[in-house]
Amino acid sequence: MNQLRNLTLVLLFTLLPLLPATAASVDAHFHFLSPGDASNQRWATYSSIFRGKVFSDSTLALKELKAAKVDKAVAISAGYFFIEEADAVKENDFTAQEIAKHPESFVGLCGINAGQAWALKEIERCKRLGFFGVKFHLTSAKVSLADKAQYAAFSKLVAKATELKMPVFLHVSYWVPQEVEAGISLSFEHPTGKFVYMHAFGPWYGHIFSLTASYLEDPKLVKNAYVDLSFTATYFNDAPASRKEDLVWTLRKFGIDRVFMGSDFPVSDVRAAFTDVRKYPLTKAELRGVEGANFEAFLRASGAKWGPQM
Ligand SMILES: [Zn+2]
Repeated sequence: MNQLRNLTLVLLFTLLPLLPATAASVDAHFHFLSPGDASNQRWATYSSIFRGKVFSDSTLALKELKAAKVDKAVAISAGYFFIEEADAVKENDFTAQEIAKHPESFVGLCGINAGQAWALKEIERCKRLGFFGVKFHLTSAKVSLADKAQYAAFSKLVAKATELKMPVFLHVSYWVPQEVEAGISLSFEHPTGKFVYMHAFGPWYGHIFSLTASYLEDPKLVKNAYVDLSFTATYFNDAPASRKEDLVWTLRKFGIDRVFMGSDFPVSDVRAAFTDVRKYPLTKAELRGVEGANFEAFLRASGAKWGPQM
């Protein structure tokens, strides 16, 4: 009997390390929107991603995630799309409440329109609401980082988020390379902050080289920059294999462990986006990281947890 038990134990300890690690998969880019605001007329710039959508809440998100066999998501408030403070407050409150309903499945990004006077105050309020980070969409806010004065004003918002230990998630305009470079320089200017460059700069992903080269030149620089592959993984999916290899090579040089996957729902459904990223020449371990383990590590490194940060 004892022998049988010993044999069982030996087998167990031999086989356990061979089982696949059960890292949660994470959609690092999922948009929420409160009911009625798709038809609100007061958008800064109306985002066509919400066309035909009535709302996007935790119930819809959980359904989407389940269909894609993805465990968790970063819920992004649509607050940054609006000009009026009351509209942003409504959106940020809505997303905070939705996260609190399913704290094991979501962390939240507060939506801030960087071009409005209430931005700083709303970042502070979002901290109290339990948001993990802050999302800025500078194209929608009509803020250009290529403009010195606008850059300086935006840098103050970044300093506030950093002081509150909230990572900054940045959508930088795709079309202006100077803005991409200015966006990158923010991460050097705020070494204690954390920066997630959304969509990995899209078609401008080659600008990641500015980060990589700077890290090489100055080994003391803090590697506080991260990217998510939402949109970009889909956009280059039908590109020649050499282009996909180039993207992966660029990300490896940058640090593949600082790369997340996201769907940008409702731009793409979660299952389609995660199917797209699996077609890139990533190793199994790299893919496990991109699909979730990297974000889990980022959350830990930020001193955060799933659910509201209370
Ligand atoms: Zn998005």
